[in-house]
Amino acid sequence: MQQFELNNVVRENVKSLTPYSSARDEFKDFDSDMVFLDANESPYDNGTNRYPDPHQNTVKKKITQQKGIKQAQILLGNGSDEVLDLIFRVFCEPNQDNIITLPPTYGMYKVLASVNAVENREVWLTSDFQPDVSAILEQVDAATKLLFICSPNNPTGNTMSEGIITSLLRQFPGIVVIDEAYVDFTATSSWINTLDQFPNLVVTQTLSKAYGMAGIRLGMCFAAKAIIDLLKKVKPPYNVNQLTQDQALHGFGNQEAVVAHVQEILLEREQLFQALDALHFVQECFPSDANFILVRVDDANLRYKQLLTKGIVVRNRSNQPLCENTLRFTVGTPAENEKLIQVLKTLE
Ligand SMILES: *Cc1c(COP(=O)(O)O)cnc(C)c1O
Repeated sequence: MQQFELNNVVRENVKSLTPYSSARDEFKDFDSDMVFLDANESPYDNGTNRYPDPHQNTVKKKITQQKGIKQAQILLGNGSDEVLDLIFRVFCEPNQDNIITLPPTYGMYKVLASVNAVENREVWLTSDFQPDVSAILEQVDAATKLLFICSPNNPTGNTMSEGIITSLLRQFPGIVVIDEAYVDFTATSSWINTLDQFPNLVVTQTLSKAYGMAGIRLGMCFAAKAIIDLLKKVKPPYNVNQLTQDQALHGFGNQEAVVAHVQEILLEREQLFQALDALHFVQECFPSDANFILVRVDDANLRYKQLLTKGIVVRNRSNQPLCENTLRFTVGTPAENEKLIQVLKTLE
C-alpha cells in the first residue's frame, strides 16, 4: 500500500487557494489602543460591536497550556461538526473521492459525506466493536482520503484498541480522524499526545460534552501544523464568535468544576449500569467509557415508547448495524437517573 504523503491527499483547488484576508488579518495587533476604522464596524462599544479574533489567540493559548501542544497544531470551529466539514472540504474532491467510516458510529460522518458528494465506504466494526483492520485496508484505493474512528465510540461507548489504531495510523495512506468527543470520560490518554509521531493524524474534541457547553458550539481540531494550515485556508474568517470565545475561556478557567462533574457522571454511570443490567427486559449492557450506556433490550421500540409516555426521552439506536434492539441512555443528574430507574422498574 502507498505511503502517506500529505501533498497526494489535498485537493488541487485548496493547494492553490489564498485565504480571504480579513481586516483583522491585515492589522494583526488585536489588543492595542489603535483607532480601528478598517472593518466598517459600529464604533459604539456594547461588548460585541467588534469582529472577533479570527485566530482565537487567547482561547488557543489557554488550550496550549492545558493540553501541552503547540498553538500551530490547533484549529477551532463552530462545533466539531464544522471542523469535520472543513476536513472534507480540504481533502475530498466531490464526486470523485471516498472516505471510510466504521458503523455503528456517529451519524455526522455519513451526512457530511453526502453533503460533500463523497462516497462513504462503510466497514462494520467487529462483534466486540473494534475496527477490522484488514477489511478497512481492503477498501482503500487511490481515491480514499479519510478514515473516521470515533473513540470512545458513539453509540457503543467503548474505546478503540490502541494497537489497532496505531496499526491503522501506520498503514492507512490517507488522513485518520480520531473523534474524541468523549475522551474526558476515559482513563486512556488522548491521541493528541502522539501528533509528532503521525503526520496523517487529526484529532477532534469538543466543549459539548464533559465541559457542559454544547450551547456555545466550540469544536477543537489538533493535527500537524501542515494540516492545520490547510484547514485554516478553508475556514470562514470569523467562524468562532466573540460570545463563544469569551465563554470558552471562562470554561477552561473553571477546570475543577468540569472534573467534579465528570467524577459524578462516572459514579452515576456505574450505578446506572448495575440498575439497568438487573432489569428483566434488558439482555445486555455494553461497558462504557463515555457519558452514556448502550443497552440491548427485548423490544427497543416498545421500551422507547413506554419511556416517552412517562416523560423520559432516550435514543433508539436499533437501525444501526450491530445495534438491533438497543437504546442509548445518557447519564443524567443523580435525580434524573433515579427517576429513570424507578420508571424502568415499573415497566411490564
Ligand atoms: C456529540 C458528539 C460530537 C460533538 O459535536 P459538536 O459539533 O462539537 O457539538 C462530536 N462527535 C461525536 C462522536 C459526538 O457524539
